[in-house]
Amino acid sequence: MPDDQFRHPSEALAREAHADRETYEAMYKASVEDPEAFWREHGERVDWIKPFTQVKNTSFAPGNVSIKWFEDGTLNVAANCIDRHLKERGDQTAIIWEPDDPDSVEGGGAQHITYQQLHAHVCKFANVLKNLGIGRGDRVVIYLPMIPEAAYAMLACARIGAIHSIVFAGFSADALGARINACDAKLVITADGAPRGGRVTNLKDNVNQALTHDYDVVKCLVVKRTGQQIAFREECDYWLHEEQEKVSDVCEPEEMGAEDPLFILYTSGSTGQPKGVVHTSGGYLVFAAMTHQYTFDYRAGEVFWCTADVGWVTGHSYIVYGPLANGATTLMFEGVPTYPDAGRFWDVCEKHKVNQFYTAPTAIRALMGKGDEYVQKHDLSSLRILGTVGEPINPEAWNWYDRVVGGGRCPIVDTWWQTETGGHLLTPLPGATPTKPGSATLPFFGVQPVVLEPQSGEAIETTEAEGVLCIADSWPGQMRTVWGDHERFEKTYFSDYKNYYFTGDGCRRDADGYYWITGRVDDVINVSGHRMGTAEVESALVAHDAVAEAAVVGYPHPVKGQGIYAYVTLMGGREPSDELRKELETWVRKEIGPIAKPDCLQWAPGLPKTRSGKIMRRILRKIAENDHGALGDISTLADPSVVDDLIENRVNR
Ligand code: ATP
Ligand code: MG
Repeated sequence: MPDDQFRHPSEALAREAHADRETYEAMYKASVEDPEAFWREHGERVDWIKPFTQVKNTSFAPGNVSIKWFEDGTLNVAANCIDRHLKERGDQTAIIWEPDDPDSVEGGGAQHITYQQLHAHVCKFANVLKNLGIGRGDRVVIYLPMIPEAAYAMLACARIGAIHSIVFAGFSADALGARINACDAKLVITADGAPRGGRVTNLKDNVNQALTHDYDVVKCLVVKRTGQQIAFREECDYWLHEEQEKVSDVCEPEEMGAEDPLFILYTSGSTGQPKGVVHTSGGYLVFAAMTHQYTFDYRAGEVFWCTADVGWVTGHSYIVYGPLANGATTLMFEGVPTYPDAGRFWDVCEKHKVNQFYTAPTAIRALMGKGDEYVQKHDLSSLRILGTVGEPINPEAWNWYDRVVGGGRCPIVDTWWQTETGGHLLTPLPGATPTKPGSATLPFFGVQPVVLEPQSGEAIETTEAEGVLCIADSWPGQMRTVWGDHERFEKTYFSDYKNYYFTGDGCRRDADGYYWITGRVDDVINVSGHRMGTAEVESALVAHDAVAEAAVVGYPHPVKGQGIYAYVTLMGGREPSDELRKELETWVRKEIGPIAKPDCLQWAPGLPKTRSGKIMRRILRKIAENDHGALGDISTLADPSVVDDLIENRVNR
């Protein structure tokens, strides 16, 4: 796709949106020329108990990395997400909950929870936590399905000043245990079971297994979701519904410092050992709320749906904190995109008249492979804005999303960000930014991206550039430290390139100043001296109509230095053959050039992915290198069995 193929926002949208091109440019300029003044103004979007006087106090200097925003202000995040909306929109729906089983009788179908009801639920929950001895600064691990109680639990922690650390309910007992220990949690909140895609995980069993060594210390609060039998530990387990009987629904919010931690969250583990990312209260909330409003052009009364799990940062910022701080109606979905069938997302969009829909490329690629009829059966006329996050989106998938889901009328926001960044750093704004399929386009307000020459670390000054993506200055949503290990924080993000925040991603800036994420820096392939991002070769493969998904890695090659090894998953109904292999090789050669032609191409029925759906190229690299004794930590893999198949069918050349 040539770089000059812009999709422009409609004139009507540009007029009505929170920002048109001019507004974006003016605000962006102001935000980087005088960050103090800009954030002093926009820091006012949250309600402060004691107003801040200081705005920004940040340093990326080696050995002295310190990030503080609004540091002398005080606030309560839960009060900002609930209490302050009560007067104006107490009866408006805050959360729409859609259960795993759309026809479930005992689940009662969808639930609509108003701001008033949310207030009562959260206050009760907060009082239960207090009764269990939880207070300011204590760590609480949340291991719950996507049920409203997950949001109540987060907000209840925020209300009393406890720090939550959510562990995705798909993680094993071992992964859970490691995270409970790492933050010294006093309490784990879980459910009896978690229904997902028609199957039930015994969450409480996992908790019991994870806690074998700490039976007497870590308490467990259990939400009744399925009603199944569980092994209840009389000494230290509590049913939420029983504890709630004992408390009132009045709970004053704690006055917290802007820099008091709000939560700890582990990264996905795509590149190695997950990092315990710490976010604090004031700056994070300002940034989550502001990005939610501008990136999705969210307007009062609209229904916003982010399909992520609250176990990921996307769920923190764009299911709970951002939308609720803005008084939005946010949808929480317990299920999976393919249950009861591959039309579930579109069924939910139609049923709840969703206006903004935000999902991951992995889901788009999977649904694209199932055919258009699942989408076309549904009335999607309520959709206004579509979003993606998590991986580079291949232009092929982008175009399908645009045409089939959006009917060609919904701007797509491809949002690039990380657990570490708290909110969007690179993203189009719907009324302002002409898009290009596959590009995350331009920086959000206050974000100063730089492209560095990887070896020298010099910033590349020309508009067109390719290299390592770093950020030159702090923004309010930036992580503050790695929990309990500030040294690791400095080493991971601030030591390779001095005075910059190092993202770990590679990128290209085109002649229009647009950013294209090319993949992880560790994944860059160097073929006969040509540096190539994995994203480009993968996109070329996915553009072929037989290919559903592709992952590309480098492996040592005697002549070229590195060769290209491609793993290819075919569309349903297509069979592997030598002809198809040759056809795909020629195809890539034609799309990108002879240099990009894969040296090895392996048919992969499945690819190793993190639980959040990202391809783990680290593992694919080891298999390609025939070094599968050293796969490293694979505890965050969604389905470890795919690895065995790949090892067995490795292509030997
Ligand atoms: P770990 O840091 O443990 O290896 P992770 O990087 O996958 O895990 P996350 O914070 O969930 O953990 O993911 C952030 C990463 O996801 C980014 O650094 C980037 O590589 C990728 N990413 C997210 N959004 C986009 C996007 N819109 N386009 C391209 N890549 C994206
Ligand atoms: Mg990362």
